[in-house]
Amino acid sequence: MNFLEERILKDGIVKEGNVLKVDSFLNHQMDVALLDEIGKEFYKRFSDKGITKILTIEASGIAIAYATARCFGMPMIFAKKSKSVNIDGDMYVADVESFTHKTKNQIIVSKKYLSSEDKVLIIDDFLANGCALQGLISIVKNAGASVDGIGIVIEKGFQNGGRIIRNLGYHLESIAIIESMDAQNSTVTFRS
Ligand code: 5GP
Repeated sequence: MNFLEERILKDGIVKEGNVLKVDSFLNHQMDVALLDEIGKEFYKRFSDKGITKILTIEASGIAIAYATARCFGMPMIFAKKSKSVNIDGDMYVADVESFTHKTKNQIIVSKKYLSSEDKVLIIDDFLANGCALQGLISIVKNAGASVDGIGIVIEKGFQNGGRIIRNLGYHLESIAIIESMDAQNSTVTFRS
């Protein structure tokens, strides 16, 4: 069992509706030493890819992407969520449906910060159905840049996102993959 799996078992809370709460160390209060470990782990897995930018989505991806960008010594960008439809031509835009809030947002990244030269590592906290990742991937593609890796902290392996993204040919690595979880008994099992 790795450092993150141990932490999920210790402090994660399984909620109804296939939601894992990790508010005590990742999504509300943040364990900065754990974030450093996560950044180092992603560096270990993607350091040979020539990454030039780390891309995530606000809000919960930001701290993870920051810790990762520190290890790579490269800039980090976060896609902003926007309800506005009045987007000018200076932005890359994608539609994303939120798994946790069941709302639709547009996400935007300024054209200033992503170019066709970039080799992008996409980072996020959770992977469920893959909507957030698909939005981020489409922004990178619109910029003419390449997605050279995708790093996820917690993948819920019993939902479809991981399979879809891997089938599209992307190099996706998750530090913990949950095989199953049960809210009633508060149990979590990991894919080995
Ligand atoms: P997806 O777009 O893959 O369906 O969902 C990914 C996004 O939804 C992540 O950015 C994350 O913020 C949120 N999310 C999905 N599942 C969970 C979960 O079980 N727990 C928490 N805390 N967030 C989740």
